Amino acid sequence: MSASLSATWSASGPSGLLAIGLATVMAAAAWHKGSLRPSGAIAAIVVGSIALRAGWSWGGFLIVWFAWVTLGSRLGRARKAARTAGIVEKGGQRDATQVMANGGLFALAATVHLWRGDPSADAALWGAAALAAAGADTMATEIGTWIGGATRSVRTGRQVPTGTSGAVSVAGSVAMVGTALGLSAVAVACGLVPAPRWWIVAVAAVFGAVIDTVAGALVQQRRWCPSCETATEQPRHSCGTDTQHRGGWRWLGNDEVNLVCTASAAVLACLLAWLLA
Ligand SMILES: [Zn+2]
Repeated sequence: MSASLSATWSASGPSGLLAIGLATVMAAAAWHKGSLRPSGAIAAIVVGSIALRAGWSWGGFLIVWFAWVTLGSRLGRARKAARTAGIVEKGGQRDATQVMANGGLFALAATVHLWRGDPSADAALWGAAALAAAGADTMATEIGTWIGGATRSVRTGRQVPTGTSGAVSVAGSVAMVGTALGLSAVAVACGLVPAPRWWIVAVAAVFGAVIDTVAGALVQQRRWCPSCETATEQPRHSCGTDTQHRGGWRWLGNDEVNLVCTASAAVLACLLAWLLA
């Protein structure tokens, strides 16, 4: 790499090999614990290496985020699995598409930071907002499913089974806002986002998670198992029957909705930063 080109790459984190090594250790631990499928572990190594290479503030935020959502997924695990076994599209083990739907924009922001140096720290802001939104949305589902309580569809207003996409509960909403606030504080503590901008991360994260819920309710594809006569997100139901399309956009599954969640948070964070600059 020439001197002029290398000058445009700014890195304050561990060296490349150390970054990949650290990311691999964490992804292997998550895979060993059953949080990731092999493809998800590879995607996590890519996202983790880029983040750590971008700086300790990026890597630190990603590590705390990961610990946060892992803790959330572990709370009341057996109870949640029993409640959502036949409904959710994918189980607790994340594959590559899920990892990228949640962490892809954060990795993209870290790449922009490495490439351009991010003097205005805007990439750090929208990257943090995107990841915080993914965390807020994940925790809303995890805590909402664990605690239970009345769960209502945003589309119909009717009570639906816990774990249904586009449905809200009190426990899930509290977990969503709490996670958005908590992760925005973590972003500041890690030095990723300046303290006066903490609220932009929090507001954008809540916005992304709300968009996720609305999209999940209105346009995400809905499927039906004819033999169990029940609603599900699975193309093939856990009973082994192929399910039928019952509404929503066929191409819009859970992963696409998660990408919409993180993207809308990133866009709102950019907009707020631009309006207030
Ligand atoms: Zn079935």
